[in-house]
Amino acid sequence: MFNNLSEKLDKALHVLKGHGSITEVNVAETLKEVRRALLDADVNFKIAKEFTNTVKEKALGQNVLTSLQPGQLMVKLVKDELTELMGGDAEGLNLSGTPSIILMSGLQGSGKTTFSGKLANFLKNKKTKKPLLVACDVYRPAAVDQLHVVGDQINVEVYSDKGNTDPVAIAKAGIAHAKANGHNVVIIDTAGRLAVDEAMMTEIANIRDAIQPQETLFVVDAMTGQDAVNTAKAFNDVLNFDGVILTKLDGDTRGGAAISIKSVVNKPIKFIGTGEKMEAIDVFYPSRMADRILG
Ligand code: GDP
Repeated sequence: MFNNLSEKLDKALHVLKGHGSITEVNVAETLKEVRRALLDADVNFKIAKEFTNTVKEKALGQNVLTSLQPGQLMVKLVKDELTELMGGDAEGLNLSGTPSIILMSGLQGSGKTTFSGKLANFLKNKKTKKPLLVACDVYRPAAVDQLHVVGDQINVEVYSDKGNTDPVAIAKAGIAHAKANGHNVVIIDTAGRLAVDEAMMTEIANIRDAIQPQETLFVVDAMTGQDAVNTAKAFNDVLNFDGVILTKLDGDTRGGAAISIKSVVNKPIKFIGTGEKMEAIDVFYPSRMADRILG
């Protein structure tokens, strides 16, 4: 994960680590390399620039030039700023409703159905949760079948209504089914399209307005870098979602989406997907991710 970025940042900061004292030129050169590493990772230009400016200000504010271990201090400042950029503290799910309703949104292929299963499994393993998965993709029967396969795999019930072409009605019926059968979490998988389009946005917004979920989550493929950030912005403009799910981080060597998305949409990344298996889900902790990136 993010190997390229880790290597480049390590190289940029390594130069300072050996020094007992450093000059302003050293700091400027290092931050130039840090900025280049961020750009190579597909971080937006403006974000990369702001990032290095902030680190520079903090470095000078904390008298990095006269500190005892200037290299270490610079590494810490970069790590802290990366943590901040990725969201600061980890944010959990709001599971306050009875049942708690979680609505999944995102493009086709982003990993929505897989993640719906992973989340159901994650919550089921908490023992106090009895999730129900609801299949609201009325366009692709294969998507409904896929959710049933996932549900069978993790032993979680799936509600679907294959002849029904009204996703709002299916979502409502799914929630009624959950109430009648003692499910305390409902995870609603919706249809995605290959690109952002108005019909999809209207549909998901209609479902959201009708069922008032505690959590509307936006699922996005981390490997798509800046595209992921742009898609997040388009969805957030319409849905004002509550959190981001970054999938396929196992295949993402760059890291641009993970680093930029929070500051563009101002919504936390709540979970990450790190593989195709149902167990490949992790709560997203910005500080742990920053530790991983900086080794
Ligand atoms: P949907 O169209 O948004 O419902 O996407 P799917 O859940 O069908 O996922 C699309 C493809 O991505 C499938 O082949 C999944 O197995 C794969 N996938 C989903 N999440 C991950 C992940 O975290 N890592 C990897 N490597 N593959 C994933």
